[in-house]
Amino acid sequence: MARSGPAPPVVISDALLVTQDPSRRVLRGDLRAEGGRITHVGPGAPREGAEVIDGRGFACVPGFVNAHTHVAMNPLRGIADDRELAGFLETLFAVDARRTESDVEAGARAGIAEMLLSGTTAFLDLYYFEDAVARAVDALGIRGYLGWAVLDPELTTQQGAPLDNARGFIGRWKGHPRLAPLVAPQGVYVCNESTWRGARELADREGTLLHFHLAETRREVHEHEAKTGKRPALWLESIGVFGPRTVAAHCVWLTGEEIGLLARRGVGIAHCASSNLKLASGGVAPIVELRAAGARVGLGTDSVASNISLSMLREMHVAGLVQKNQRWDASVLSAQELLDLATIEGARALGAADAIGSLEVGKRADFSLVRLDHPTVLPARPEAIVSHLAYSASEEAIDSVFVEGAPVVRGRRLVRGSWEEIRTAAESAADVLWSARPRA
Ligand SMILES: [Zn+2]
Repeated sequence: MARSGPAPPVVISDALLVTQDPSRRVLRGDLRAEGGRITHVGPGAPREGAEVIDGRGFACVPGFVNAHTHVAMNPLRGIADDRELAGFLETLFAVDARRTESDVEAGARAGIAEMLLSGTTAFLDLYYFEDAVARAVDALGIRGYLGWAVLDPELTTQQGAPLDNARGFIGRWKGHPRLAPLVAPQGVYVCNESTWRGARELADREGTLLHFHLAETRREVHEHEAKTGKRPALWLESIGVFGPRTVAAHCVWLTGEEIGLLARRGVGIAHCASSNLKLASGGVAPIVELRAAGARVGLGTDSVASNISLSMLREMHVAGLVQKNQRWDASVLSAQELLDLATIEGARALGAADAIGSLEVGKRADFSLVRLDHPTVLPARPEAIVSHLAYSASEEAIDSVFVEGAPVVRGRRLVRGSWEEIRTAAESAADVLWSARPRA
């Protein structure tokens, strides 16, 4: 695997810095990055030895953290639209059986391109053939938290035992500077107690995150309760799954008791508003209550097969609107809070807030430059920029993206890959996968 050295120093001069630091400062100034880290935020950055990029027409914003996705599914966008989760999964499982490592890689490259071009610099993934996703992360320059999907051996389409596959995957990629391998039991509907315990043990032994779906639908909750006598979150607690290095996606159907439990245990929550709405999960995730209880909540797009987009800009917008409308209260999940969920709080949900999620000296230099002359950012006033990012800014306003201080997008073009090649390979993968779609 290619592992290049740290990027040469770069200074973004005189930009509108949306820091997301503890006081949420928005100020005009410079950002200097060196050795992969931010070394200066504010006026008067030293310029020695650095490439200087004129930031006057841009906001400099922390890279977005997508806290839940399945990036390799990009060739499946639109394949199971307008179906609820059970019907959606039926199509997906039929297509899954046809997937190969090479089409997973083609899909992952397309998904990573979509994320980079919409300002996302880090993502948490759950899938199999994750070596292919890891190669795509390594090549295109994004930061990946990559979970090998684990389910009961008799339910998987994977070759070999999923837990052994996860162990091997973690061993192969541990120590990569932009990539954290981890174990990802899919959910209570495909993982029995011994699979969960095995996954927990593996995560503990290797010091990785444990990522899974939780309480996404009423059906999941009711079927699990019928089988075990406990709701999914309480059952997982009873077998010792929860801890500060766990990240649960969805969490739509929670009781007050479960909300308190997840907060107390320090479980990261990936709120996937668009996916829940499109798959008609029915309820609205109790994000306000989770945050009030002190839970660490980020935003996830889920896959394009369920959301239709990997854009965190869209996700902030939708997440805000659905909470406000459901509560008849326009003040809940403010623009600032939405940007928090997409950046620093998403980083906290992943246990990575000391490294990413804000523009602060010492953190990894993951940021994007947002055009201030774009129609969706007008009026480009400092006091409105957070609101524009949360509700209005188009992906087309993302001009440049840096990860570890190195450019990965410049002038809306990928730096480390050719979109034409990525697109062609992903379209070929789609040709094969769409032919496996069961006819309704
Ligand atoms: Zn998911």
